[in-house]
Amino acid sequence: LVELSHVEKHYGSLHVLKDINLHVDTGEVLVVVGPSGSGKSTMCRTINRLESIDSGVIRIDGEPLPQEGKELARLRAEVGMVFQSFNLFANKTILENMTLAPMKVRHMSRKDADDMAMDLLARVGVESQASKMPSQLSGGQQQRVAIARALAMQPKIMLFDEPTSALDPEMVNEVLDVMIELANEGMTMICVTHEMGFARKAADRVVFMADGRILEEGRPDDFFEHPKTKRAQDFLSKIL
Ligand code: ATP
Ligand code: MG
Repeated sequence: LVELSHVEKHYGSLHVLKDINLHVDTGEVLVVVGPSGSGKSTMCRTINRLESIDSGVIRIDGEPLPQEGKELARLRAEVGMVFQSFNLFANKTILENMTLAPMKVRHMSRKDADDMAMDLLARVGVESQASKMPSQLSGGQQQRVAIARALAMQPKIMLFDEPTSALDPEMVNEVLDVMIELANEGMTMICVTHEMGFARKAADRVVFMADGRILEEGRPDDFFEHPKTKRAQDFLSKIL
């Protein structure tokens, strides 16, 4: 479904992505871990072209991701993204946050968009908050809305970049539970997260990045219990 081949990226003289080769099949859940600054966020952001790449190819459903234009907008709509910070529109209600893009980009009627939004809000357990403003919700509730909002675009793949790292500890699980449910329903997902419980429960594969490279890739149990590289062993000894 998503394939990166020989992807390279620099920020000025900083080489942030080095020969990244990665594929994610339909229904697969990939967890990406690695030290700070290793390029995890940058890699995610290249997949929906929030960041350009210097060379290599990114394919979504076999189609190379173009640098700009209508085709880019179309392919980008297939990729849902949830960030560390909740990124809801602060001056719009939860329901408006949910329906804006489906009405504008997918040309849904208000009625259809509202119905779908309420279904999705119910799925993540916040339907009673629909008429509130984002600031009236807890961090965990806002992040669940952010997930529901991304799902409203009916993406083929969901990208999560440390979706729980800005949350108070007691709210982490309510967001992870939504992600686990999505994974169980067969959503294709790439998740940057250091939540090992989530990785063990939901991941099909774990990818370890360091210094802009993918150093290891494997099944969660293999990776966590028998990391092959010294870098991964050092990393895991710090976070486990
Ligand atoms: P973290 O775990 O802290 O989120 P990360 O693995 O997500 O780290 P990235 O955010 O992808 O790492 O950053 C990779 C490298 O690129 C870092 O050295 C970072 O300082 C640098 N970098 C990221 N964004 C930019 C930017 N817009 N301009 C210049 N350098 C950047
Ligand atoms: Mg990051």
